[in-house]
Amino acid sequence: MTTILKRFVIVGGGSAGWMTAAALSSVYDPNTVEIVLVESDAIGTVGVGEATIPDILKFNAMLGLREDEFMRATDATFKLGIQFVDWGRKGDVYVHPFGEHGADLNGIDFHHYWLAAHETGDVPAIEEFSLCAVAAKAGKFALPSRDARSVLSQMGYAYHFDANLYGRFLRRFAEGRGVRRIEGEVREVGRDPSSGFVTEVRLSDDRAVSGDFFFDCSGFRALLHEGALDVPFIDWSHWLPCDRAQVVPSAHVGPIKPLTTSTAKTGGWQWRIPTQRRIGNGHVYCSAFMDDVSAAEVLLETVDGPPLSEPRRIAFRTGHRRSFWEKNCVAIGLSAGFIEPLESTSIHLIQQGISRFIALMPDTSLPETLRREYNRSMRADFEEVRDFIVLHYKATERNDSPFWDYCRTMDVPDSLQRKIDLFRESGRAFRHGEELFARPSWVAVFLGQNILPSRLHPVASQVPEQKVRQSLSSMRRAITTTADTMPSHEDFLSRYCGWKPSLQ
Ligand SMILES: Cc1cc2nc3c(=O)[nH]c(=O)nc-3n(C[C@H](O)[C@H](O)[C@H](O)COP(=O)(O)OP(=O)(O)OC[C@H]3O[C@@H](n4cnc5c(N)ncnc54)[C@H](O)[C@@H]3O)c2cc1C
Repeated sequence: MTTILKRFVIVGGGSAGWMTAAALSSVYDPNTVEIVLVESDAIGTVGVGEATIPDILKFNAMLGLREDEFMRATDATFKLGIQFVDWGRKGDVYVHPFGEHGADLNGIDFHHYWLAAHETGDVPAIEEFSLCAVAAKAGKFALPSRDARSVLSQMGYAYHFDANLYGRFLRRFAEGRGVRRIEGEVREVGRDPSSGFVTEVRLSDDRAVSGDFFFDCSGFRALLHEGALDVPFIDWSHWLPCDRAQVVPSAHVGPIKPLTTSTAKTGGWQWRIPTQRRIGNGHVYCSAFMDDVSAAEVLLETVDGPPLSEPRRIAFRTGHRRSFWEKNCVAIGLSAGFIEPLESTSIHLIQQGISRFIALMPDTSLPETLRREYNRSMRADFEEVRDFIVLHYKATERNDSPFWDYCRTMDVPDSLQRKIDLFRESGRAFRHGEELFARPSWVAVFLGQNILPSRLHPVASQVPEQKVRQSLSSMRRAITTTADTMPSHEDFLSRYCGWKPSLQ
């Protein structure tokens, strides 16, 4: 007989906490199951997290959120990909777009034909065959078409937004569905002396909040996982050495493009993320190679518009908890682990943590098999994201600073090395199992950072050059014509969610 868990306690009210509360409140009837969230206004949230990837659409759809309302409430703009500047070599610029490049021919991936054309002469960069990249660079946007015959069906998109506002938006949603919020600071975690299970959290004013199951959404503090349950941290700093960020918002200058920009610097990289009202800027760097004062100076030298505050420093550690689900507690968000925001994957990993938990929802018997499966699959998600991010650092020819010398020459995880070797040798890239990043993403970064295969695909190599070039030209024409007919991103935002230039 199944006896359901009756009382969930979420510790922390950042995006992780409120995403968890909103999702739980949408799968359980709050009259049957109590969901309580404890957060401390005095401690506040990490206050960053502005770029997302397309999977967030699924999360919002699961909650039944209206996209225009969500965008208005969170200051959201659209995002069609990331432009990488100075990564492979200084002066290089490429886009990792959402969606596909070109169209496959005879069952062979498009990029093999692009490589064949590249070998025989000039060919436009591969991103010129991506509708998302072409539209993003031109500052255009349209929603994808559901008609597979339309070029517009190749659109994929995500958002730039204010994660604090997303948290507040989800709070209204969750409270509206019966989630109870308790304001207070957790000082102690009570555990059952024999099982070690968490029984309650005690607040600084002596109130106790008890539950059957707990979520540690307390951010980098990891109050339950680190503080109480003592779950070890798997440190990946040797592969991803950046451990600090300086962040500052700035005023908009020029049109809002649906594109994140990531510019490599001498000791890390800098993001530029346009939301409706401002540009989010952050310089991610490695404290072993750059001090905080220099990092803030680098940031301020290169923000586009006037800064709206002083830079703020955030320290972090890259890696994850050995166990994401320990006893009767799951860590979600920064408490579970962190991989730097180069490909905007943290909010996605929160979403994965929540969806996996709901898929593996235990009853009061808390089967060990569910816990093991959760931990296995979350570890796989983290490792796959890690490999993709490490690729950006490893695939560089930059030798202009000790930081880049370290990254260029470091050993990488075997799982990544295999992917690099396979592509270098044969141009092949595959998505395994439930990997987040699909082939076009890997291809965009490999080619964008100058990893070219030594051999062509045998089938693509046999197609006459003229035929390949004709196909490429007609694909390119279809893409540019479609992008030309799209409204500007700003016009689309105005019509869709009431954005006005005066918001800037
Ligand atoms: C530099 C940087 C850039 C980032 N950029 C991106 C990005 O572009 N895209 C992306 O997807 N993600 C990004 N992230 C990650 C993203 O910000 C987080 O994953 C997301 O905001 C979730 O944070 P959180 O809710 O886990 O933690 P937090 O926002 O820190 O929330 C923790 C909560 O716990 C509460 N709390 C802590 N201690 C106590 C206590 N003792 N008692 C009661 N409450 C307590 C706090 O009050 C707060 O409510 C970035 C992170 C960093 C560090």
